[in-house]
Amino acid sequence: MSEMKIFLEKIRSCWDGENEITIDEARKVVKEINEFLYTNYPGIGDTFALGSSYPYFSDFHRYWEENHKEILNIKINETKCESVADVMHGIFVETEGQTFTNIWNMFGLSNEEVCRVRMLTANQDFRGSRSFEELAKIYEDDPTIFDLEKIQSSPDEFIKDIGAAKLSQNDKRISYAKNLVNLLIEKETEPFAILEKYNNSVMGFKDDLLARQTGYGNKKADMFIRDMIVLNIWNDVTGFEEINVASDVNTMKVALRTGIIETEIPLVSSFLDIFCYQYGDVDDMNASAWRKVWEIWKEKYPTECIKSPCLMDYFIYDVVGKQFCKPTLAIFKCDECEHTFKWHSGRNKTCQVCHAAGIKNVRATKIASVMPCMDEEGSIAIQKSKFVSQEGLMPYLQACPFKTICDSTNKRFLEPPKSISILGQTGWTSAYAEKDKGGGGLMS
Ligand SMILES: [Zn+2]
Ligand SMILES: [Zn+2]
Repeated sequence: MSEMKIFLEKIRSCWDGENEITIDEARKVVKEINEFLYTNYPGIGDTFALGSSYPYFSDFHRYWEENHKEILNIKINETKCESVADVMHGIFVETEGQTFTNIWNMFGLSNEEVCRVRMLTANQDFRGSRSFEELAKIYEDDPTIFDLEKIQSSPDEFIKDIGAAKLSQNDKRISYAKNLVNLLIEKETEPFAILEKYNNSVMGFKDDLLARQTGYGNKKADMFIRDMIVLNIWNDVTGFEEINVASDVNTMKVALRTGIIETEIPLVSSFLDIFCYQYGDVDDMNASAWRKVWEIWKEKYPTECIKSPCLMDYFIYDVVGKQFCKPTLAIFKCDECEHTFKWHSGRNKTCQVCHAAGIKNVRATKIASVMPCMDEEGSIAIQKSKFVSQEGLMPYLQACPFKTICDSTNKRFLEPPKSISILGQTGWTSAYAEKDKGGGGLMS
């Protein structure tokens, strides 16, 4: 009999279904819910995660592991994918492809040096250009820190030197550093030339990187490979089209709101998503959906398309996800007059209407923040976004390019999933509780 059925029968027996619920009955319900969701018992069985086995967290956990896929029923909506593909193609044509080949700052390092610094650190949780700037400085100060033999003989020093020792899981970091340089030394090569050892096949390289416990998972490997190709550090490679969009909360958010992925019920809270099954599925389907967008785009406009889905990353993640699809339009009310006005920054303190009329020093109070696509004056925020105001690729853009799609899906309120990690101080494995013992859960 399924865990769910047993649970529902217990809940049903708590109440006669007619009279008001007494505190005694409510007490039983609370106990049953807690037991079902958050307690285990000897003999509950084991699940397999992250290379080890763990006892189930609860009967619900066991049920969720088996049934989450069918319950959520995540699907890719191809019609929406085509709408998104058309928008992407339009942007490609308008900006002559430049929106999709955003080149990040190399801070004066050569191709060889950028490749070395990125490859040896991207597996240690350093992300984005800001941390690259710090790492580039560390390299400038003392390039020998990144010497392969030096790392091989004292990987712990390397972890300290790049500033990763203050992050958690130090032992793991040391072994990642060591396994990675071992791979390079064994292949008798340097990061810049590693692809030659795999006949320039990015997938051959990626598979090996993932198999050797180097700290590179799917996503980190994809992002590293993408950057090397976008920066033209690696060229003439094969298999670039296999690299997916790097799934994250921003790309998931845009996928859910445009409707390219759909779920049968709204995503559940991370408190129910024990061991991150929902998060993992949304993550996978998100990458597949963006790949679908790319496939449709490439098929419809073969000569006006990017070379790999991963090149959509910058636009979806950084521009749409972090700049447009957020409540960046602030609505203010003047502290002294009746009028309200919209502004691109919530940090404003002045009544801009009074000021423009020559009445200075009148304060204003923010009464709301909305997404630009939800307000007819949304262009105020879009025009001041970093993408529009600083990059000069689409200086006349007035609205998020996906606005029309979101208007028709009407799902712009959807939020991406969150995840509670499996391991660590605030992870599921620190939150176990046994039936009838009480307690358990997370403390922050
Ligand atoms: Zn005013
Ligand atoms: Zn929107």
